[in-house]
Amino acid sequence: MGQYSDGHVHTIQAAVLRKKGGPLEIETLEMEWPRDDEVLVRLVASGICRTDIDFCDDWDEADGAVVLGHEGAGVVEQIGKRVKVVKPGDHVVLSYQSCGRCRKCRGGRPAHCARFYELNFGFQRPDGSNGLQRSSVRGHFFGQSSFATHSLATERNLVKVSKDLTLEILAPLGCGLQTGAGTVINSLKVSRKGSIAVFGTGAVGLAAVMASRLAGAHPIIGVDIKPKRLKVALELGATHAIDNRHQDVAARIIDITGRGVDYVVETTGNPIMHQLAIEALNPRGVVALLTGETGTDSLPEGRRTLGIIQGDAVPQHFIPKLIELYQAGEFPFDCLVKFYEFSDINRAIADAKHGDTIKPVLRISKA
Ligand SMILES: [Zn+2]
Ligand SMILES: [Zn+2]
Repeated sequence: MGQYSDGHVHTIQAAVLRKKGGPLEIETLEMEWPRDDEVLVRLVASGICRTDIDFCDDWDEADGAVVLGHEGAGVVEQIGKRVKVVKPGDHVVLSYQSCGRCRKCRGGRPAHCARFYELNFGFQRPDGSNGLQRSSVRGHFFGQSSFATHSLATERNLVKVSKDLTLEILAPLGCGLQTGAGTVINSLKVSRKGSIAVFGTGAVGLAAVMASRLAGAHPIIGVDIKPKRLKVALELGATHAIDNRHQDVAARIIDITGRGVDYVVETTGNPIMHQLAIEALNPRGVVALLTGETGTDSLPEGRRTLGIIQGDAVPQHFIPKLIELYQAGEFPFDCLVKFYEFSDINRAIADAKHGDTIKPVLRISKA
């Protein structure tokens, strides 16, 4: 741990985004001690998710400097006096933030929190303050900013995990894998023998493929432009793979299924793929859009599109379930992970962008 000074701050290291497209620079910052409802987590590892990369590429310098990262795993170092669910030394996985007070949160649907946007993308605490001191850098991305040695989380966005597990492998469960698997299991409730196509076989799409196999879906069709990722999809449960550089996706899906698929999980965010997803559906089919849109749109003949956030998962229930499946060999997401040292964060991001690495995970400290 960093030095404790009179002002009750910790010295931390964080990868700071100061300009559009990066690079991220590791800087020394000061972080407040946890407030009554906060937990100071020493990060052991952090996954890199596409949302981090998109933020980096689209960042407006006028919005100042920020710390990204929202798939943290670490060890609790210090807790505020109202914190009950963890104590120092506990191992935790961090996930998205929610308010806990709105109707959706109280109804057990925190992914639909009324304050979801500001709590996850606002770079501030719920009260508007910032735990990073004496600098203009802002944190609290997804209630985490896990591209750092330390994070201020709350009980609402942490999940206690067993100390028997290798903490660094669990990092990506907090966003991408939860989203992909949750979409299939919680949002679409894919049925046995249901037919599904997954557009984009990156980490989110491959989690959807694994969950589809668990649900007993058939066929499971992976669609991507990278042969290497399609090969992984076939290894993880896809029954068919379509390289959409060379094949007519909708025609090929109709060819495989007869009248189109029951479900498409669209992870690419590409409008052309969105349109192809609709064309590939059978008349009662659903397209799950994992790209930030919310709500349901009706299409001809009962087809629907559904905007999904975080796979409708309650992290404290869903992440332990994914861990159990992983331990039983049913959700082997570890094969997607490549580790990088924290100081190599920009190389990790570049490798993810080029598709060379499916899920980069930064090693930040020893468990
Ligand atoms: Zn809420
Ligand atoms: Zn994410």
